[in-house]
Amino acid sequence: MQSINTQPHQHITLVGAGIMSATLGILLKELNPNFSITIYERLPQVAAESSDAWNNAGTGHSAFCELNYTPELPGGRVDISKAIKIATSFELSKSFWAYLVSHQYFDHPEAFINNIPHISFVWGEENTAYLKKRFEAMKQHPLFAEMQFSADAGQLAGWMPLVMQGRDNSQPTAATRMPIGTDVNFGNLTRVLFAHLNSLPGVELLLSHEVRDLEKQDDGTWLVKYRDLVFDTDYERFTGMVFIGAGGGALPLLHKSDITEAKGYGGFPISGQWLVCNNEAVIQQHEAKVYGKASVGAPPMSVPHLDTRIIDGKKALLFGPFAGFSTKFLKNGSYFDLPASIEFDNILPMLGVGIHNIPLTRYLIQQVTLSHQDRVAALREYYPNARAEEWQLAIAGQRVQVIKRDEEEWGKLEFGTELVHSADGTLAALLGASPGASTAVSAMLDVLNSCFPRLMQSDEWKAKLEQMIPLYDESIPVETIIEHRRKNNALLHLDD
Ligand SMILES: Cc1cc2nc3c(=O)[nH]c(=O)nc-3n(C[C@H](O)[C@H](O)[C@H](O)COP(=O)(O)OP(=O)(O)OC[C@H]3O[C@@H](n4cnc5c(N)ncnc54)[C@H](O)[C@@H]3O)c2cc1C
Repeated sequence: MQSINTQPHQHITLVGAGIMSATLGILLKELNPNFSITIYERLPQVAAESSDAWNNAGTGHSAFCELNYTPELPGGRVDISKAIKIATSFELSKSFWAYLVSHQYFDHPEAFINNIPHISFVWGEENTAYLKKRFEAMKQHPLFAEMQFSADAGQLAGWMPLVMQGRDNSQPTAATRMPIGTDVNFGNLTRVLFAHLNSLPGVELLLSHEVRDLEKQDDGTWLVKYRDLVFDTDYERFTGMVFIGAGGGALPLLHKSDITEAKGYGGFPISGQWLVCNNEAVIQQHEAKVYGKASVGAPPMSVPHLDTRIIDGKKALLFGPFAGFSTKFLKNGSYFDLPASIEFDNILPMLGVGIHNIPLTRYLIQQVTLSHQDRVAALREYYPNARAEEWQLAIAGQRVQVIKRDEEEWGKLEFGTELVHSADGTLAALLGASPGASTAVSAMLDVLNSCFPRLMQSDEWKAKLEQMIPLYDESIPVETIIEHRRKNNALLHLDD
C-alpha cells in the first residue's frame, strides 16, 4: 500500500467520472480556483456508464411530455407542481451550460444539445380526456405556454407520421406537442466538461482507478483507499471532502464510509434495453420524442417512448426502455453487487420492498421473459407498421433505485434521486437516477449547500453563482426564468 500526502483539508475527492462529478468539479473550480481536486474513475474512460448517450434516453427532462410528472388527483384536478419544479430545474442546467458556452468552454453546443419536439401521445376515451385536462392546466403556466394540443388524426400525422400510419382509427387519439423540447448527449457534455476540468491547475483525473474504501479520521479528514487497476497496486490518500458520484457504485461506497446517515439504505437495480432502428429511411421520417403512458405496475421511468436522438451529429431512432433485471449495480459491474449490498441495517427495508411491491415484481418478470416479437408488438402500439427485422436490441445503463427505511412497510422503493450527506458536510453521495442527468446542476447545488453551507452564503460565492447560474435561487419569479430561457436558448443555438 502506497501513501500519497497532500494538504488534505484543501483537497476534494470526486468518485466517478459521470455528469455529476463533472458538473460539481467545474462548479467548485469556478467558485474557488485554488481547490485541488482528484477524480477517480474505475473505467479507462470518462462518461462510460449511465452518462453515455447510448446508456440513457437523452431527454432534456422539462416535464413537457412525461405524463408521470402530472398525476390526476382524486377530485380530477391535474397536479402540475412537480412539472414546474422539473422544468425550472432543467432551465437551471441550461443556464449553467449557456454560461460555459459564453465562456468558450464549448464551441458547438449542438454537439450535446439539440431541439427535438416533445410529444405526449395517448389513445382511448379516458386517456384522451386526461391529456386534454393536463393541457388546460399546463398551458396557463408561462413555462408551458407554447404547448399545443390536438385530437385531430390529420394534425397528429403531421406531427408524427410513423405513429399515425396504419393506426386503427376506431378509438380516439390525442397528443400535446412542445416544439422547444430537447435531446441531450450527456456523454459528450461530460467529456467536454472533463477535458476542460483536467486542463485546470490542481486537478487530477485518475482513470482505471477504483475507490475501494473510505475511512473517517479523527481530525475530520477522510482516508481514500484506491486501486490502480492497470498495475494492480493499492494506494491511499487523505482528503478534506468526498463526493461519491459513482452512479450505481455509490451505494456500496456510502456503506463503506460508515456514516450514520447511510444506515438503512438499500438499492434495487433495474436495467434498461432499447430497440434501435437500423433503417435510415424510417429514422428520417420521425422527428420527436413521443412519450406514452406507463403500463400498470411499471416503474415511472419505464414509460415507453419513441425517440429521435442526435448522437454524434447523426440521427437515431430508439424505442423503449424495456426493463431488465440484473444483480449488477453498474453496466460494467459485478453480479455480486446486489447480494454484497445487503447489510444488517438494510435487510428489513429490502425485505419490506420485496413484500410490498408485488406488481413491480410481476412487471419485471414479464419484461425479462419478452421475446423480440413481444418487444416489436409493444413498439407497434407506437409505430403500427414497424418491421421486426429493422430493429435490434441494445443494452442501456443500470439504474439502482433507492430503498429507504419506512415505518409502515419496513422499506420503501424510491424512483427519484436522493442526496445523503454526513452532518459535518465532509461526505456526500448521490443515489438513484431520475430525473437524472437533466437536473445535474440543481443536484450539485444541493451538494454545495450541504457541504459548503458557510461559503454558499458568502458574498463572494453568491456573486459568482449569480453570474454562472442566474436562476440558482429557485424562488426567482417565473417571468425572469422565461427571460433567461430566451437568452440561454440563443446561446445554446436552440429554438425559442
Ligand atoms: C436507461 C436509462 C435512461 C435514462 N434516461 C435519462 C434521460 O432521458 N434524461 C436524463 O436526464 N437522465 C436519464 N437517465 C439518468 C442519467 O443517465 C443519470 O442520472 C446520470 O447519467 C447519472 O450520472 P452520474 O454521474 O451520477 O453516474 P454515471 O454516469 O453512471 O457515472 C458514475 C461513474 O462512477 C464510476 N464508478 C463507480 N464506482 C466507482 C468506484 N468505486 N471508484 C471509481 N469510479 C467508480 C463508474 O464507472 C461511472 O463512470 C437515464 C438512465 C438510464 C439508466
